Amino acid sequence: MAGRIYVVGIGPGRPPLRTYAAVEAIRKSSVVVGYETYIKLAGDLLEGKEVISAKMRQEIFRAETALERARQGEVVALISDGDPQIYGMAPLLLELMAIRDMAVDVEVIPGVTAALAAGARLGAPLGNDVAFINLSDLLTPREVILKRAVKAAEADFVIALYNPIDPGLTEEVLRAIERVRGPEAPIGVVKNAYRDGEEVHVLRLGEVKGHQLDMRTIAIIGNSETFTWRGMMITPRGYSRKYRL
Ligand code: SAH
Repeated sequence: MAGRIYVVGIGPGRPPLRTYAAVEAIRKSSVVVGYETYIKLAGDLLEGKEVISAKMRQEIFRAETALERARQGEVVALISDGDPQIYGMAPLLLELMAIRDMAVDVEVIPGVTAALAAGARLGAPLGNDVAFINLSDLLTPREVILKRAVKAAEADFVIALYNPIDPGLTEEVLRAIERVRGPEAPIGVVKNAYRDGEEVHVLRLGEVKGHQLDMRTIAIIGNSETFTWRGMMITPRGYSRKYRL
């Protein structure tokens, strides 16, 4: 029997934010591979399956394991939280397959990424063009991260900051964006979106420090038109320029 890999995004946390396709893909799989925290998020779907959980920073092992098992004829679910393209397993798996020229059947199942989940909790901060920026310097040099943050702010993108692994670097990025946007710019800080321990805060850029953002947190900084109203963050699409609202 030919094996297959589903690279599955299981959403931010609670089951209602999983897609039907994600649930189906896991149901069809005999082997489930993922980081232990993500495996827990899919815990209710795993009965009777072989589960291979790995620690953080073992991404290559996880991808190789999925490939190996698929080549043995198994249907494998390789799990990411949120969406598997967004700082998840899909690009690594496909890159590895391309470099090694391995023709294994593969399907990427999209999921609700943290920016979308947090955005919904905050109101509608993603109402216009958005830049996702990964603050982890494990795979991206610090100067690249800083440069992208500054350029995104200068181009007036809404900015979603993922993976604030280093408080010092996060602080530098926040201050660099603040120099462009000013200290009054709205920033939404969401911890554990759609998970236990959820926290949602709408703040001003000038009052947020790097150490306040941890790895369970995503920050969304508005563009120059983003405003707050009754605890919500709203980024206009542009209707009021064209119509009287
Ligand atoms: N593939 C994931 C992101 C992986 S990177 C996705 O699409 O969402 C991990 C980072 O995502 C975390 O450090 C945090 O910044 C953010 N994140 C993921 N899930 C989150 C959640 N439920 N609440 C807040 N931030 C989250």
